[in-house]
Amino acid sequence: MQRKLAEIDLSAEDTSERLIKLACGHIFTVETLDGHCDMSKYYEIDLMGVFTATKAPPVNYQNPPSCPTCRGPITALRYGRVTKRANLDILEQNVASKMSSELENISQEVEKISAKLESAKDDAKKIPFSSSEKKPEDLHHFAESRKDKFGKEYEPLPPDAIHQGAMTTVHGFSGEESRAWNKIIREFVKLYRKVAGVARTHGPHVQAYGAALATLYRLELAAIASDPERACDKPEPLAMEEVNKKIGQPPHKADTRFQVEGFFLSLELRYMLAEIAQSRISGLNTTSRDEDITTPTNLWRSYASFIYESCVRDASKAFIVAERSTASRLAARARMYILRGDLELFRFEILTERTSLVRDGILDDTHRKILSNRAQQKANATAALMKTLEMTYIRSRPAENTGDLIAERAWFAQNCRERGDKYVEEYRRLAAYLLTESGYAPLSLQEKADIIKAFGFCKSTGRAV
Ligand SMILES: [Zn+2]
Repeated sequence: MQRKLAEIDLSAEDTSERLIKLACGHIFTVETLDGHCDMSKYYEIDLMGVFTATKAPPVNYQNPPSCPTCRGPITALRYGRVTKRANLDILEQNVASKMSSELENISQEVEKISAKLESAKDDAKKIPFSSSEKKPEDLHHFAESRKDKFGKEYEPLPPDAIHQGAMTTVHGFSGEESRAWNKIIREFVKLYRKVAGVARTHGPHVQAYGAALATLYRLELAAIASDPERACDKPEPLAMEEVNKKIGQPPHKADTRFQVEGFFLSLELRYMLAEIAQSRISGLNTTSRDEDITTPTNLWRSYASFIYESCVRDASKAFIVAERSTASRLAARARMYILRGDLELFRFEILTERTSLVRDGILDDTHRKILSNRAQQKANATAALMKTLEMTYIRSRPAENTGDLIAERAWFAQNCRERGDKYVEEYRRLAAYLLTESGYAPLSLQEKADIIKAFGFCKSTGRAV
């Protein structure tokens, strides 16, 4: 206001009369600095300039405020909420941008390695048969002890569950078999280790936020449920809004997105591994007719089932991560990965069961009908689930007008329903094959669009692009 310091009334309560000296030595009125630091974005302020409550802070990344005269840092306690948030944002952006460039590199490598899938399958088929010294009770032991190898709640299957050592210690193969196998899949496991690392990363916001959020969110949902004025059938967004006000930082979706994309890529890699393992099984069936291959075949089947099961579990983990940060599109895509995991596992196990029935010479019409009905039921259940998922998705999106709604439906159709329809169709083809023995080749469910995509992170907007 072009006033001199001497003209300031230091006895007044008004923020236009109170002074702050910054660390650099420059002096401003509180009113000026409050405006400069955008305090009204962080606090409810009454007419007298008094803070009455905290607000949900801005969603976009914030730059730390600095002295208007010399750009020196503002460290005054009054602006702690603003500066802490901005500092966290800088860290967060560094992590997010590192994760996105890592994913970018990994996705290119996944694309390259997927071109080598067929030759890897051929090689796996030709691994020389080495008889296993394992007994049936050993198989049971390995299957049991593997149940706690799926990894923690927020991380994908640990790479140590599939590396060369694990092939003997966790999955029960002979050293010779493990070595031959590892030669073929070494590159896949190496890449898997990288992608699992990205999927395990938590940005600083998530770390600072996670613990507080879970508790507040639960308390808020309970409070809404017991408040007749606020109780409704969609309490989640309401609760999240309240939690945001209290917690001081919005949920950051930047690192969540890269974490979840990391989960997705890790699934694609594992499906390739499982395909190679299936090829190994078919190799055993053709090359070692005269020997007892029950044990090695069962070891490989159990290994492939383990991989498929880990995919179903990890798609669910990815879903929970996305859901907790209210990233509804990621959550919807994770749901599709759960459905795909179910299908991959089901298809593998029912075809394995059929092979066993054929080998034992007991596959008759009754068996065919039973197997086929199971596939048909999965087709129907999946088709019904797709309708529910679409409704859930549309309800989770804030649509302001018909145009928004059409856009959301189009997004769902392109990113989810197309996949769902493909899965339903595959269950039906499987059902037809199991009943009539018509020609059948398993459809590849690989999602090329998810592998080859831009993971870019834009620092100026703080968004994934
Ligand atoms: Zn200054």
